Amino acid sequence: MTNDPRRLQSYIEGAWRKGNGEGRPVLDAATGAVHALIGAEGLDMAAALDWGRAVGGPALRRYTTHERAMMLKAVGQKLMEQKADFHAESLHTGATPRDALPDIEGGIGTLLTFASKARKELPNARVIPEGPVEVLSKDGSFVGQHVLTPMLGVAVHINAFNFPVWGMLEKIAPALIAGMPCLVKPASGTAYLTELVVRRILDMGILPEGALQVLCGSVGDLLDHVTEQDVVTFTGSAATGRKLRSHPAIVQNSVRFTMEADSLNASILAPDAGPGTAEFDLFVREVFREMTTKAGQKCTAIRRILVPSDHEQAVIEALSAQLAKAVPGLPGDEATRMGALASLDDRASVREKVARIAQEAEIVFGDPSTVTTSSGDPEAGAFMNPVLLRCASPLTARAPHDIEAFGPVATVMGYEGVDQAMALAMKGRGSLVSSVFTNDEGFASDLTLGLAPQHGRVLIGNRDSARSSTGHGAPLAPLIHGGPGRAGGGEEMGGMRGVKHFMARTAVQGTPRMLSAVMGRWVPGAPTQSGEHPFRKSLETLRIGDQLVTERREITREDVEHFAHFTGDTFYAHMDEAAAKANPFFDDRVAHGYLIASFAAGLFVQPDPGPVLANYGVDDMRFLTPVYFGDSLQVQLTCKEITPREGSVYGEVRWDCRVSNQNDKVVAQYDVLTMVAKTWPLEA
Ligand code: NDP
Repeated sequence: MTNDPRRLQSYIEGAWRKGNGEGRPVLDAATGAVHALIGAEGLDMAAALDWGRAVGGPALRRYTTHERAMMLKAVGQKLMEQKADFHAESLHTGATPRDALPDIEGGIGTLLTFASKARKELPNARVIPEGPVEVLSKDGSFVGQHVLTPMLGVAVHINAFNFPVWGMLEKIAPALIAGMPCLVKPASGTAYLTELVVRRILDMGILPEGALQVLCGSVGDLLDHVTEQDVVTFTGSAATGRKLRSHPAIVQNSVRFTMEADSLNASILAPDAGPGTAEFDLFVREVFREMTTKAGQKCTAIRRILVPSDHEQAVIEALSAQLAKAVPGLPGDEATRMGALASLDDRASVREKVARIAQEAEIVFGDPSTVTTSSGDPEAGAFMNPVLLRCASPLTARAPHDIEAFGPVATVMGYEGVDQAMALAMKGRGSLVSSVFTNDEGFASDLTLGLAPQHGRVLIGNRDSARSSTGHGAPLAPLIHGGPGRAGGGEEMGGMRGVKHFMARTAVQGTPRMLSAVMGRWVPGAPTQSGEHPFRKSLETLRIGDQLVTERREITREDVEHFAHFTGDTFYAHMDEAAAKANPFFDDRVAHGYLIASFAAGLFVQPDPGPVLANYGVDDMRFLTPVYFGDSLQVQLTCKEITPREGSVYGEVRWDCRVSNQNDKVVAQYDVLTMVAKTWPLEA
């Protein structure tokens, strides 16, 4: 084993490249030893962006959303096999193996979740329709539709030091699914771990050339070269974020810029959750966890502890008892309860910020100036014991609401009543997350709705979710991560919303035929073709616009009564003439909507074994016109969207289904969802 520091490289323009010179030392957080050397001086940033745009973008855009998602799934699975290597490298960041779980497994899991959701929720296409087709003329000959297409530039991700793996993967996953190449710029302090993961990804050879670049070192003049089709995302301090947001190239080119900055997240104990309740214990456990996980260096960590004044002392005592056990130590040491901060500079910064908060609050636990460790050198390593403060006048104090000490530090503040709790939480002026611990629905509802406009996420904790809750501090792939105001005003993840951040939204107007052609999706009013029953066609021969117009079927009183007694649905509108007539919507007894849908299936189905393998649901079912006894129904079934499933023998087909009466009025309308074989007979 060699202890020589590794010279980090950047993968840009299709090759691993060193910047000029020896590189700056990057220290191991817990030992202070030089672990890596970093520097990107002399690398051609403009060329890196050009290469992403010219090589990576076109290569990615040749694939469909599902094909790109399948690549990410393969990448994620292979990364998971190598997680032990990432954990080993992660120890140098100061994070314990437990701290590293959300970064490494959490990051890979986020990638896999995006890959899976994309295949379930997005069409397997190069263009994504958004929302319904808007009919813009009386005769339906002019329509409009929002469409999403990949941006043509590079997604530049400038990341923070505290999540070197997750921070990269949660951003590249949606961008790559959208079809945008990425250039990742990890924070210098922990870039060695990001660089390792990127090396492993590129070695897999799964992503097309140009899809992923990494820049280890300072950004140099990178941002001078961003153009209108690039997207820049930033995670880090509000001060840097503000500087980047107002960078001339970003402003002049209206570059899409997303910022996720520090925030003073609050956790609120409700009045009903006093000592002795399950919620009190959960609250103390959660605050303790948030203060000590990653030594408090999480953007979602709890910084402000808002408690009813009556319970303030009890909370301080319970928390202090827990914090006393959180003695920092070497991250690889099994006995270690809390790891190190990421750097000695961070410790100096946290101490300085604690001193400023302490001008308006008293320290009730811990001493920021002395360090006690369970292992490791207290001075050479960036260790810091937890510090708990209490602010006696939180409504007038500024520092506890303004100053984020990015370490194991939080301030307890007492409140009286829900309005004051809300007012204090709002003093954070925009946060990533707040949590409320209560078993009282009224308090939970009042507080959550009050907090919502200032928060990206609000977690309500109580006894019923004690074991299942993912916790205050965990951003999740399906939910948005970001927050207004102080938190940067950005939004990341949120399931497929996150993908759309890397796509352009365009309103396309024209005839239904033109819109169908643009989207590869049938639009009502576009041409159709009939012939062989479409249920006899596999995906090899089925085409958008293939249509079946069925025979007619009359609905009789006997049908309705039979259906009512058979199913048990004897609702009065179907069974009782006087009551039906008294109903403002009906002139007489009406057929059940589900009877109409059932008869429709009877009309359009082709019963023999064939390429249609299963019906897995209907979307957007609407009953538009009452159906009376004697009405006759006819179905128009049109192939609307074909989504071949990657790596499978079938795909999903969406059918536009319109049921109309003898007067050509549509009585029911919905999408029928089926699974259809790619070939028929099925290939073994
Ligand atoms: P910075 O804002 O300094 O750095 C964040 C990222 O921006 C890093 O990749 C950094 O690169 C890069 N960067 C710094 N200066 C520039 C610049 N002028 N142009 C372009 N890129 C730049 O944050 P830190 O990592 O130093 O952390 C400081 C504070 O940020 C913390 O104390 C905390 O308050 C907050 N923070 C918030 C996080 C969050 O998730 N919201 C996460 C981490 C920190 P390089 O490292 O090479 O300088």
